Amino acid sequence: MTGAVTLNVRKAERSRLQELDMENLPFGKYFTDHMLEAEYENGEWKTAEILPYQPMLLSPSTAALHYGQAIFEGIKAYKDRQGNPFIFRPYDNFIRFNKSAERMQMPAVPEEIFMDGMRELIALDQDWIPMKEDFSLYIRPFMFSSDELIGVRPSEKYKFLIILSPSGPYYAAPMRIYVEEKYVRAVPGGVGYAKAAGNYGAAMYPTNEARKKGYDQVLWMDALEHKYVQECGTMNVFFIIGDTAITPGLEDGTILGGVTRMSVITMLQEMGVKVEERNLSIDEITDSYKAGKHMEVFGTGTAATISPIKELAYKDFTMTFDLTKWKIAPAVKKMITDIREGRVADTHGWMFRV
Ligand SMILES: *Cc1c(COP(=O)(O)O)cnc(C)c1O
Repeated sequence: MTGAVTLNVRKAERSRLQELDMENLPFGKYFTDHMLEAEYENGEWKTAEILPYQPMLLSPSTAALHYGQAIFEGIKAYKDRQGNPFIFRPYDNFIRFNKSAERMQMPAVPEEIFMDGMRELIALDQDWIPMKEDFSLYIRPFMFSSDELIGVRPSEKYKFLIILSPSGPYYAAPMRIYVEEKYVRAVPGGVGYAKAAGNYGAAMYPTNEARKKGYDQVLWMDALEHKYVQECGTMNVFFIIGDTAITPGLEDGTILGGVTRMSVITMLQEMGVKVEERNLSIDEITDSYKAGKHMEVFGTGTAATISPIKELAYKDFTMTFDLTKWKIAPAVKKMITDIREGRVADTHGWMFRV
């Protein structure tokens, strides 16, 4: 990337913050006073701008709406006890965003726009960061192709935006999960490791089929043998079996490498739990269950941090887990939440000062 990108700031005439009911913040519904928007054209990023949050005017021929060159990220910001704003591990999301961009044949977004722009946007709207326990400011960076041309080819124009949404506690109710053997989320060589919009659209039908059967989410299995676990809905998945934590590895590109996943692995290792990143078959899971081994099963992701799984249905065999016996998953969740909300010292350099 050549040259520094200047960031223009156009402030909103008045803040909408007073209209917000801080007690009632459903996930992703309300947005702050400002947003960031940058445009890419002729091989370079043009001026990036912070401007009042507003609708966008798009041509019906906008390429992303037709061919799906669209990617996103999800990050959270918090305030510490003194009210200083911090972002949780945003650099890891920045790196992942540009990996997604490369896979979708989209331009990399430079650090000055993604990181410095996000920092400046949050500084401007920092009064919107809730300070209550389990509340946060959800950050949504995204990019899409903006050529006004319906020919199938990589676009020449792109838009990158960041919007901010104050969010209340995400109640991670224990989930009932259906082991999905027909539909798949990702294949080796595909786009499973990218946070590409189409992955989520493609998951909605199978997820809804599972809902109709009374489940909350599906456990995605590998595409070739339907034998190895991959992810749980839009979360990474961990199985604690006996004294070992097992989660699928990232080598074949079918798993989205979660920042929460990485953080959970670090926490587990620091607690002295052995962590294995490897293939885990559904047979190994059912055998362990039948042998009466201690098991804790949960999904991990930015929205809920850790979502416990209380029931796992494979064909006509249902495994139920007694959450009252769990020790490890609740401890990990508490450690990560305490770091994010500033109750314990951040010894890992995870909290990025705005
Ligand atoms: C975003 C996402 C995750 C979790 O990633 P985090 O960085 O922990 O939020 C896991 N799986 C999928 C498919 C995702 O889209």
